[in-house]
Amino acid sequence: MLLKQTPTTDLNLFDAHCHYNEGLAKIKNATISGYNYKTNLEAKKAAEKFNKYYSLGFAPQELQRKELYLNLEQEIEKIKKQIEQNISEAKFVAIGEVGLDKHWAKTEEESQRQKIGFEKFIKISQEYNLPLVIHSRDAEEECIEILKNFKIKKALLHCFGGNLKQAQQAVEAGFYISIPPIKSKERKKIIQKIPIEFLMIESDAPYLAKSSIQTINSAKMISEYKAIEIEKVIEQTAANAEKFFAKNF
Ligand SMILES: [Zn+2]
Repeated sequence: MLLKQTPTTDLNLFDAHCHYNEGLAKIKNATISGYNYKTNLEAKKAAEKFNKYYSLGFAPQELQRKELYLNLEQEIEKIKKQIEQNISEAKFVAIGEVGLDKHWAKTEEESQRQKIGFEKFIKISQEYNLPLVIHSRDAEEECIEILKNFKIKKALLHCFGGNLKQAQQAVEAGFYISIPPIKSKERKKIIQKIPIEFLMIESDAPYLAKSSIQTINSAKMISEYKAIEIEKVIEQTAANAEKFFAKNF
């Protein structure tokens, strides 16, 4: 197969969601996300170094931590300022990751903090007309509901772990779904049923996969389950990501 001899740098791989990782130099584009003040700075730095996009956010499993963020409002305000300082940067393209995480919220208070934070960032995204990169672990249904209630049009459900029905609801609302390089029965169904125009590929490196290069495995999965040539999968998912993260989208 031709692809086997092609270095990944020659492929148009767009990793729709990752963090700083060693594969960034070896792919065409990526959106590097932060999940708190410090990693937001790192995301920006990596984006500048590797000529990629970046997004700034405050992840739910992070902002629920009272021991770190006693004054949640103040910390959200600090990140809002960080976002505002980056508004005119060409490579700053989205708010995220933000969302809900029911896997890590163990108490009512933690759930509340997550919800307050999520809604604040949704409002910030509306204020600046920026797309949202959503973390929705074990909370897909609720995240989709909240986004719809806020009439959000531009959202990417990163590392989507929900079921086919939820994926269909998301796509009906115009949201995108990104596929990590990990197989599951439900993910297979989702890939088969959801039009490729609504799919992206991601690594979530270095946490889920080790490197952004592994987005090639997400592309292989889509290629196999949809019976589309992998080159076409790579082109289409990159085009979807470029459109989604374009500032005029
Ligand atoms: Zn992530």
